Amino acid sequence: MSLKGKTAVVTGSNSGIGLGIAEELARAGAQVILNSYTDDPEDHDLAARIAREHDVNCRYIQADMSKGDRCRALIEEAGGCDILVNNAGIQHVAPIPDFPVEKWDAIIAINLSSAFHTTAAALPHMRKRGWGRVVNIASAHGLTASPFKSAYIAAKHGIVGLSKTTALETAEEPITCNAICPGYVLTPLVEAQIPDTMKEYGMDRETVIRDVMLARQPSKDFATVEQIGGTTVFLCSEAAAQITGTTISVDGGWTAL
Ligand code: NAD
Repeated sequence: MSLKGKTAVVTGSNSGIGLGIAEELARAGAQVILNSYTDDPEDHDLAARIAREHDVNCRYIQADMSKGDRCRALIEEAGGCDILVNNAGIQHVAPIPDFPVEKWDAIIAINLSSAFHTTAAALPHMRKRGWGRVVNIASAHGLTASPFKSAYIAAKHGIVGLSKTTALETAEEPITCNAICPGYVLTPLVEAQIPDTMKEYGMDRETVIRDVMLARQPSKDFATVEQIGGTTVFLCSEAAAQITGTTISVDGGWTAL
């Protein structure tokens, strides 16, 4: 599978799943734009490493995905793109009555509204280029719910809906839009949930991993960033040209339960 000549923008890609997706797209030959809200030397070093290791162009563009104008500016600063991966995301765990309003607003902005803004900015470029792939990173929590994650689950269900609408608006063009729904992947975002979940359930770390996180993942194994990256590359392939407006679960059987 070669993505030579294609440019990919991956939001929230200096860590975790986004970085894994960027690596797999680069391995397939795509030019990659990395992004996050920071602007540290390490962010630019990461882009230089990916460029060197995969012999592709790769650069880092700072843009805070909680701000609609910065989401749109990211796409323009990239010069448009052929592949847009909306991956940036944050999490907060609390019961609804105690859920901080600013966390609700931030999660909806970063996990959902950012994808609306980047898609709005990217589609005209894809139409000009006559080809496009939008891959939204939703979650098993885009299809099912769990307690204490109201904002995240609302945003992830929202992004599944946005993916379907984007697919219908581009259905007669060589542009597709789909959502990948990962189960648990051991990334910094998941690591950060462990202490709060330990507190909510009064459990130790190992018990939270086995009995809470992987309780609903029948494989009893975390999915990997390489697997999410590989699924993204597949959705960019010719074999996936008629796959649009759907969800692909990479969740060890979670949503089969
Ligand atoms: P992570 O914390 O490792 O990565 C999140 C990325 O988003 C980072 O690069 C971070 O810098 C970036 N980000 C956060 N706020 C941002 C902002 N305001 N502007 C720009 N970038 C910002 O987490 P992850 O687990 O790799 O999560 C990536 C995506 O995958 C998220 O959308 C998450 O909801 C989804 N997901 C993760 C899992 C999992 O188990 N890890 C499961 C299902 C879905």
